[in-house]
Amino acid sequence: MSSARIDVVLAQASQALAASTTGRLDAELLLAHVLDKPRSYLFTWPEQLLDCAQVAAFRQLVSRRQMGVPVAYLTGYREFWHLTLKVTEATLIPRPDTELLVELALNPELLPGQEPSATIRVADLGTGTGAIALALASEQPHWDIVAVDKSPEALTVARENAANNQIANVLFLEGSWCDPLTQGALNLIVSNPPYIASDDPHLKIGDVRFEPIPALASGADGLQDIRQIAKQSLPCLVTGGWLLLEHGYDQGALVRAVLAQAGFSQIRTETDLAGHDRVTLARRPVG
Ligand code: GLN
Repeated sequence: MSSARIDVVLAQASQALAASTTGRLDAELLLAHVLDKPRSYLFTWPEQLLDCAQVAAFRQLVSRRQMGVPVAYLTGYREFWHLTLKVTEATLIPRPDTELLVELALNPELLPGQEPSATIRVADLGTGTGAIALALASEQPHWDIVAVDKSPEALTVARENAANNQIANVLFLEGSWCDPLTQGALNLIVSNPPYIASDDPHLKIGDVRFEPIPALASGADGLQDIRQIAKQSLPCLVTGGWLLLEHGYDQGALVRAVLAQAGFSQIRTETDLAGHDRVTLARRPVG
């Protein structure tokens, strides 16, 4: 049955998914998942025949993708930093944009004067899959990291991700933003909070339709949670400690104003690879 060759099945599927700019890639990721092989296998063995069960499983995934279900929810995982993370409908799908926040948090100039092996205390607020906390922990095994989320379902996924990636220096706590944290103890707080305005039409199109709304939307202007995090974070940081927040491309000035209002100093915004405002850093004043 020639239609069950890898290359033929893939060509059909990418045609079926042609409405999406990532149709071909999506088809490859889904077929590699069904075969439990790396994507490179598809190009190495294009003539290999699939059995009926594999064809049926692949067709089912392709039709769910046609309905808009994100590839990460269909395969159950997403790559972030150098980690493979489990994702479910209870978690946001980690975005490459968020790697900027990880890079900035790892910059040794942020916390100068610390011994390389000093224990740095960090909190990741709204950890979701654990993406940020686990990326930091994998790079800095001696950091003491707390990852907070109010969703017990997300925390179950995040704990599983820590175990699967052999990461032992993250403690997962259930709660809202800084509620479970000790005051005045943290060197660094990082967060990729929800920051989309709740009536933003983008919430109704594309892959985000399938992601949890509380992980994406935050009040009429998208800044409700950022305001709360700014207010709560200052007393949780040591003096001189930093808060790093991811936000929307058009929210840099607004977020800087919120942080100034909350009493932070040395506030600055960094841009992502596309040149958009993406992460704002702010410091608890030293004096
Ligand atoms: N911190 C997680 C991430 O960046 C989840 C963020 C969220 O749910 N808003 O992927």
